[in-house]
Amino acid sequence: MDSISHLLKKLGFTDFKPGQREIVEDVLKKKDVVALMPTGGGKSLCYQLSGYLLEGHVVIVSPLLSLMEDQVQQMKSKGEKNVIAINSFLSFHEKEKLLHADLSRFKFIFISPEMLQVRRWLRKLQGLTVGLFVVDEAHCVSQWGHDFRTDYLKLGEVRDKLGKPPCLALTATATDSVIKDIKKYLHLESSMEHINSIDRPNIAYQVEHFQNNHEKRERLLEIVKHFRSPGIVYFSSRTKAEQISHYLEEQGVDRIAFYHAGLAQEQRILIQQQFLLGQLDVICCTSAFGMGINKADVRFVIHYHQPTQLESYVQEIGRAGRDGGKSIAVLLKSAEDLMLPQLLIEHELPDDAFVSAVLTELVNKWRVIESLTDEMMTDLEVRFQATETHWRYLTYHLTSFIGNNGPLTEINLELCAAFLQKQIQLRTSAKQEKLRSFDSWTFGSGCRRRGILTYFGEEAGPPIINCCDHCGLELEDYSIREEKRKSITGDASSWKQLLAKILVQED
Ligand code: ADP
Ligand code: MG
Repeated sequence: MDSISHLLKKLGFTDFKPGQREIVEDVLKKKDVVALMPTGGGKSLCYQLSGYLLEGHVVIVSPLLSLMEDQVQQMKSKGEKNVIAINSFLSFHEKEKLLHADLSRFKFIFISPEMLQVRRWLRKLQGLTVGLFVVDEAHCVSQWGHDFRTDYLKLGEVRDKLGKPPCLALTATATDSVIKDIKKYLHLESSMEHINSIDRPNIAYQVEHFQNNHEKRERLLEIVKHFRSPGIVYFSSRTKAEQISHYLEEQGVDRIAFYHAGLAQEQRILIQQQFLLGQLDVICCTSAFGMGINKADVRFVIHYHQPTQLESYVQEIGRAGRDGGKSIAVLLKSAEDLMLPQLLIEHELPDDAFVSAVLTELVNKWRVIESLTDEMMTDLEVRFQATETHWRYLTYHLTSFIGNNGPLTEINLELCAAFLQKQIQLRTSAKQEKLRSFDSWTFGSGCRRRGILTYFGEEAGPPIINCCDHCGLELEDYSIREEKRKSITGDASSWKQLLAKILVQED
């Protein structure tokens, strides 16, 4: 047996999942790899296994605290002690201690893109030999890097500063243009690509249209009551997630909770854990919930609101059926909410007036701006109301303007405003285009699965049973009644089997 298979067995697996071996082999050859594997396809194993066989440390860039914590816990539960997550979860004291400690004992280091921009942490990592630089959920480079998490766009520079170790970029949803972005921003000049089908045959698709939100809410109640749980219901607003969660609870749905980024950190962890441990059946949440969360038996994912792009939709529904069991994704659309995704896109980035006002304020007060100092930022934040995302977006593009054109002054103020406004406009129209594609999928009459695969540049496979509402779907297969019927017959047959066994033994 080769060393890879040997280690696979040691990690508790009998065989590779499709695509894993090929990825690991290329990583071990120290090639840069971009790997596309379906949600639940076993991406973590690719860097864990290669990490053990490569010399040096494995740095894993991960987008979310909850995801990092989840991965660290899983590795620890399998006996790996030399793993740590460096994130804002660590207390001030823990951070200081770590900064002065010897990190060389940690084989696997999880870190966020933002932490990698903190000079002290980067220097600390530069003191180690990094054998593999992993970017998990690498579509974030493209999906988030261009607006609210611009530090994703600097990961290539970070990798260069770490001695340009081989890079493994992993994702479950990437169109050609996203893969292009990943390669560009991670500085992957000649990477190997492992593109596996993103199809999840065990997830059925259903889209339902309603005249108004009242009808939509009643249908949600019906589904949550009758469909087999556990399940996740996605909303695009925190308030709605809370309200509807309360409503469902009042209507007799037990073991339900809501989750969004507005909750305290401890509360979020608690709810996530309760869901993972099977103490909660239904979570009403925003997109803040679920990325990379490895809960195997999620049976339904319902969208009460539609995300703004198919990429997000595929990621979110991908949390269903990781155990391979029959699962369903239901998108509920109401005529009253049709404009909602459009409004979300418009609010995601700052508007023209805001850009002009901020730049004017900067020039009036500081005259020549060579870089944005903390003092300037504090002053701006007091004067203007804006989201964290808006500030990050502005800072990133202003810094790049100054880098290309020299300091911001009265002379180039207008040029700068025009530059920023152009960036915003380009980004917004790219998002609108994605929304249009998603919308036509929801209103289209063709096979839903084929539609998604085509969007991601894949050919559809042969027809499957319970594919989608257009190909024919037996909703009863997802209901609790079906489960009860199965468990009764299941019990009967297992009794028969047991009896047969006993009889055979007695013979
Ligand atoms: P994702 O591709 O979504 O990141 P994960 O890495 O979280 O998926 O893995 C999903 C599940 O598959 C985990 O429970 C993991 O233990 C399991 N898994 C990974 N590799 C294998 C394998 N070779 N055989 C069986 N199960 C595996
Ligand atoms: Mg993962």
